[in-house]
Amino acid sequence: MNILPLPAFADNYIWLVHDGRRALVVDPGDAQPVFDALQRLGLQLDTILVTHHHADHTGGVAALREATGAQVYGPAREKIPEPAQRLNGGDHISLPGLGGLAFEVIDVPGHTAGHIAFYCESLGDAPAVFCGDTLFSGGCGRLFEGTPAQMLVSLTALAALPGDTRVCCAHEYTLSNLKFARAVEPGNAELVHYTARCEALRADHQPTLPSRIGLERQINPFLRTREAAVQQAARAREPHADDESSVLGALRSWKNNFT
Ligand code: ZN
Ligand code: FE
Repeated sequence: MNILPLPAFADNYIWLVHDGRRALVVDPGDAQPVFDALQRLGLQLDTILVTHHHADHTGGVAALREATGAQVYGPAREKIPEPAQRLNGGDHISLPGLGGLAFEVIDVPGHTAGHIAFYCESLGDAPAVFCGDTLFSGGCGRLFEGTPAQMLVSLTALAALPGDTRVCCAHEYTLSNLKFARAVEPGNAELVHYTARCEALRADHQPTLPSRIGLERQINPFLRTREAAVQQAARAREPHADDESSVLGALRSWKNNFT
């Protein structure tokens, strides 16, 4: 099984999973990059997975479904293009077209109210999670429809996945996230090493993704709200950030205005 990020718009990735014949895509905000890849690789699109309702994740769904007949799966509690099979946290799906490839659905509210993630225990040689705009490498999504407490629960669930789980998120925000992460934790040596690796990839026009959950636990400040250094940095901005969710909220507001 192959996993590859198809660049779309300025900084989106549409994830394509295929076995050389059949394919699924995650969050096709635009149909054209998917049509191009299907043609280039000689693939039949069977399945479309949608993590949340934003247009940069759903804009290509209708055109792809009409052209290919692909089955759409998406969050139960959000408005996405119909017809779609609606999923809640804890649901399991398996895809006969792709050799029975199986996903577990995880509820990850925060960026949007009904955001879901798709976890696959064994995709090729390791697990993978398609987490939309919830967890990014080095960061997390903006809280458009949820609270810091909800986002903390969502990120904690993702951080609890096996360390070798590939993090397939929907935007190439890594370098700007890492710049912020270094402001939060200037003494984090792993963060410095990882930044150098990502800078080299971007200089070569390569994606920094997928990341890995184990790595994110070491470098992503939004997964590190229990660390003393992270709490201290958050409290320097918001002195009353005394529990983990208010630390996360303080980091998120700081990041919103960070350049
Ligand atoms: Zn979004
Ligand atoms: Fe997005």
